[in-house]
Amino acid sequence: MNSSKKLFEKAKEIIPGGVNSPVRAFGSVEMDPIFIKKAKGSYIYDVEDNKYIDYISSWGPMIFGHGDEELNNVAIEALKYGISYGVPSAVEVEMAEIITDAYKGCEMVRMVNSGTEATMSAIRTARGYTKKDKIIKFEGCYHGHSDCLLVKSGSGTLTYNVTTSLGVPQDFVKNTIVCEFNNIKSVKDAIEQNKNEIACVIIEPVPGNMGVVIPDMDFMNDLRNITEENNILLIFDEVITGFRLSYGGAAKVFNIVPDMVCFGKIIGGGLPVGAYGGKKEIMSVVSPLGAVYQAGTLSGNPLAMSIGIAALKKLRNNPQIYDGLEKKAIKLEEGFNKNIEKTGINAKVVRYKSMLTIFFTEKSVNSYADVMNSDTKMYAKYFKGMLDSGILLPPSQFEVMFMNQALSDEDIDFTIESNLKVLSSI
Ligand code: PMP
Repeated sequence: MNSSKKLFEKAKEIIPGGVNSPVRAFGSVEMDPIFIKKAKGSYIYDVEDNKYIDYISSWGPMIFGHGDEELNNVAIEALKYGISYGVPSAVEVEMAEIITDAYKGCEMVRMVNSGTEATMSAIRTARGYTKKDKIIKFEGCYHGHSDCLLVKSGSGTLTYNVTTSLGVPQDFVKNTIVCEFNNIKSVKDAIEQNKNEIACVIIEPVPGNMGVVIPDMDFMNDLRNITEENNILLIFDEVITGFRLSYGGAAKVFNIVPDMVCFGKIIGGGLPVGAYGGKKEIMSVVSPLGAVYQAGTLSGNPLAMSIGIAALKKLRNNPQIYDGLEKKAIKLEEGFNKNIEKTGINAKVVRYKSMLTIFFTEKSVNSYADVMNSDTKMYAKYFKGMLDSGILLPPSQFEVMFMNQALSDEDIDFTIESNLKVLSSI
């Protein structure tokens, strides 16, 4: 068996940076990545057989933990029917039915293969429907890597300081207006300065890609009102929050109905799936009904649909899962806060439902500017200390700890104990 070190050396020769997605390179925590052999329940094991409590949860999809028996059995059964057809199948209809039943305002939905495709296609649809070109996004929010959305974004682009990517012509982003999250005036000003030119506003209703930032409810309600007043479509990017904050997503929690929504992660149960949807009238511009073109060889893939459907049904039939996930996050939040007080370290815990980030900063965190005040060197030390204790955290300050159902009380207690030890030593 190759060691992580050997695998990384080889990978770097033949894969850019040795990884298929930048944050996996552990660059911002200044170490080489671990390579994973297997994962089961709340644990993930590297190729050296070190065991870690996993708080990445594949960046959200593994909401039940790894290797869930129910989902595994569905996958095995689905394989017997063939992996991909390229013509319609019943599971695609079932998936659409589940999503449209779960999410208010999502009357029609189209399946794609990733969150990136979902947001890219939603933007194209919004532009096609409104016949307007400009869009608004928020600083620090990440919506995948399509050209027009790769402007002042979060996640790996923050980690590697490429918030605006090389290779994206200025012409492709000239219609992207960036506003400040939790600052409604920045949105009002943008709308005022671009009267009747803005097709849509896309937002992570609870940002996770700059670390967790809690939305101000006045901001969210005002955003809904002013978009409606100005004939601008409001798109909730619920790739992270969909089916995580509640079965009806952030929209249900906020009691706000967006015009369009994007999903990913949980709806695929760990397989590469995304979806975008919205009101029937809007989605009716999508081909072959309308002239907005979007397609996919593997879209609605029957294996992925079967596993995704099983995941969503499990959530629908066990709504107590959401309380359980939040309780785990609250326990961690309280434990971490006690430890922060004890050690006197400059850190702030921000939690929303089952999403949590520790920011190494003095001031409370409510905006992108606050996030950018954090000490990423301290986070790197903290990450390493926790990894040495057997806990896998996101390898970047600008990401989220995702709770999964398999995390036990013992796992959480151990994490809090380790947190104290590590905070005392850095
Ligand atoms: N939107 C949000 C809110 C995301 O968090 C992500 C990925 N983390 C995406 C879109 C892009 O999804 P994907 O990585 O599946 O393309």
